Parts: sequence; C-alpha cells; structure tokens
Amino acid sequence: MPRVDAGLKLDFKDVLLRPKRSSLKSRAEVDLKCSYTFRNSKQTYSGIPVIVSNMDTVGTFEMAVVMTQHAMFTAIHKHYTLEDWKLFATNHPECLEAGNVVTGEMVEELILSGADIIKVGIGPGSVCTTRTKTGVGYPQLSAVIECADSAHGLKGHIISDGGCTCPGDVAKAFGAGADFVMLGGMFSGHTECAGEVIERNGQKVKLFYGMSSETAMKKHSGQVAEYRASEGKTVEVPFKGDVENTILDILGGLRSTCTYVGAARLKELNRRTTFIRVTQQHNSIFS
Ligand code: 5GP
Repeated sequence: MPRVDAGLKLDFKDVLLRPKRSSLKSRAEVDLKCSYTFRNSKQTYSGIPVIVSNMDTVGTFEMAVVMTQHAMFTAIHKHYTLEDWKLFATNHPECLEAGNVVTGEMVEELILSGADIIKVGIGPGSVCTTRTKTGVGYPQLSAVIECADSAHGLKGHIISDGGCTCPGDVAKAFGAGADFVMLGGMFSGHTECAGEVIERNGQKVKLFYGMSSETAMKKHSGQVAEYRASEGKTVEVPFKGDVENTILDILGGLRSTCTYVGAARLKELNRRTTFIRVTQQHNSIFS
C-alpha cells in the first residue's frame, strides 16, 4: 500500500520572513559575499552565491561577463562548441551537471559519495512541466529546509534550483538554508540571453524554454526521443533590456531582507530566519 506523507510542505508563496530587531543602520552595511570551503574537494568559494541556470537561453557567455562583475557566476550551458569556448574563454568557469534531488536522505547519500554541492528542486521551475507530466515533485521551500539541514549536518552545501519568481523568493531560499540560489526565469528575456528580440503585437519579447522542452530537444538532438515526454514548456517573455537592472534589483532586495531581520551578512540570514505561514503574501489589487 502506498504511504501518504501528510506533513505540511510549503512553497515560497506560503510564507513571509518575520522582521526582527536590527542594529543595522543602512542597507549598504550588509555584506552579500559568502565564503565556503567544500567538504570533499576542499576547494574554496567566495562570492555572492546567486547562479544563472545552465539553460541555453540564459546560461550564456554574455551573461557570464556581467555576472562576474558582480561576483556572481553563471552555469554556462553545455551546448557551446569547443570553437565557441576558444573564442570566449581563457579560464574555465564552473560547470554544474547533476540530477536534482529533494529529500534529505538523497542529499546525505550524494555527499557521502563525494559530492560537494547538491542541487535541490524537482518540478518548481518556471518552464518545467514535470509535476503535470509525471506527478512527481516537492514544494521548494520545504525541500530546501530539509535538504539544507541534512547537507549542513555533514558540512555539505546545497543549491536551491528553480521556483524563484521575485527577489523576495531568493531571500526566502537563502533564509531556508540554501548556500546558493539558481535562477532561470528571473534572468530570462534580457539582452545577454540567447535568441533574437521578437516583435509580438507591438511588444518586444524573447523566447525562453525548458531544457527538456520540445524546443530544446529539437534544437539539440533534432527530435524528442520516443521513450520520453517533453518535461518543459516554451514561452515568450517580455524583453527586459540589460540584465544589470535585474541584478541590482535582486541584490538590493537581498540587502533589504538582511536589514529587516538584522543579518549583517547574507551568511547569517538563515540563522535570523523565522518564517510565518501566510494565506496571501502581497496586495494584488493592481496586479
Ligand atoms: P526557474 O528559475 O526558471 O524557476 O527554474 C530554473 C530551473 O528549472 C533550472 O535551473 C532547471 O533545474 C529547471 N529546468 C529548466 N528546464 C527545465 C525543463 O525543461 N524541465 C524541467 N523539469 N526543469 C527544467
């Protein structure tokens, strides 16, 4: 007989961060840079731990150039050719490739098998259709809370991957215990993204699609393999101009979050976090 886990599981939209007493006088006092030493490789990292997803629309060389200026990195997508790399690169940015998990036991198994950083998220993505196609998934906030707890117990690290729709969600992911937050949709539609700006009913848009969508599969392997269903969708997103503005919006939001809860450094946000469950997170009268 299948087991039903009736424990409450939450998404970003189900909570808000409770403000706490803060001695911080200005948002400028907040340090968003984090330094980590990884458990297995002993490699070190220092930077603002927001990552552009390795999707071929957003994980581009052009994006990496801008992100690097802000001490953030880009998971470059895997479809560039060696020639493309030769034209672009002198050093090798991190390449991230691993299946995602959402449970503490899988996190522990992977860390004990030698992984340093575990990507957490099944089905929360903006262009992901896994939950409707397969019925599989896990609300992202709970997945991050539970996986971070398991990872940190072993001195491992996690990336919250997918499901962030606004800077507040990025803050909630860090508050829940994510060491890194990976974003696809929030970085879509910019100048630095792949693809042309298209004119649609007088509006400028750019194409954004899941890496398991029919669009991506046809582009990279010519077809959708018969044995699998596409688990991603294709959307047209409004053209948002240079990514610089979006970056400043996200970083400004994170700094504000930290001041509201009294965290002088992003690394302290998790310890300063109390989530409150809500039925509505913002006033939607004008949306
Ligand atoms: P977003 O920030 O757009 O909500 O989520 C980005 C994440 O969605 C990516 O980093 C990746 O893990 C996931 N993703 C990207 N394309 C697909 C897809 O076609 N199918 C599924 N299931 N997930 C995808």
